[in-house]
Amino acid sequence: MATADKELAKAYAKSLAKSYAKKKAMHWAITTVGWPSILLALGIGLIILLIGTMLVFAAMLPFAMLVPESAVDIADGTGMAGLNIDLTKQYYDGPRGRFYTPVSGTITDAYGWRIHPVWGTRRFHTGIDIAAGAGTPVRSALNGVVIFTGNVKAYGKTVVIDHGGIQTRYAHLSRILVDIGDEVSGGHTIGEVGNTGISTGPHLHFEIWKAHGGILRHVNPLEYMGR
Ligand SMILES: [Zn+2]
Repeated sequence: MATADKELAKAYAKSLAKSYAKKKAMHWAITTVGWPSILLALGIGLIILLIGTMLVFAAMLPFAMLVPESAVDIADGTGMAGLNIDLTKQYYDGPRGRFYTPVSGTITDAYGWRIHPVWGTRRFHTGIDIAAGAGTPVRSALNGVVIFTGNVKAYGKTVVIDHGGIQTRYAHLSRILVDIGDEVSGGHTIGEVGNTGISTGPHLHFEIWKAHGGILRHVNPLEYMGR
């Protein structure tokens, strides 16, 4: 029994000492190390956050500066999502005739990879942007048949013309002057330049899609416009 009592007393003393040591350590931590280190850590964290934010803004600045000046669209580059037409079907069956530049204006954005004017991410621009005054007539590039007119999300008021193996698409129009099924000749006015959809100013977003083995793929319009 005496041994057991001794053991108990020893354990009690040990736990007291432990509890005291713990309290002392906590007291020491809070009074001498705790709060200063906590404040220091918070301060360093805040500075890192501020520097990080500044770096992110500095990195975005060149892209942000691209936005207001030139009239470009901020379409997502995945083509005209939601366009309900059969891409594989050839609607027009006739001579395409000569190629007309769809609108006179300044090319503000080329075909190909670009930095998204708002998100700063790399996206593929499936057409070219031609800035021109709102209301400037937009012409059909070739002889063809109108296969789509209407609103397409980011592209706004849009016309799609099939030329037989080649398709042209005209977006951000303010007015559409043709109907689905209309047969148009190259140079015929099909609408007017506008700023509909997601766009930073009046311009025409112009795409050319070409059939490759039954599948239409967008191509660089400048390759056609140069000819
Ligand atoms: Zn565009």
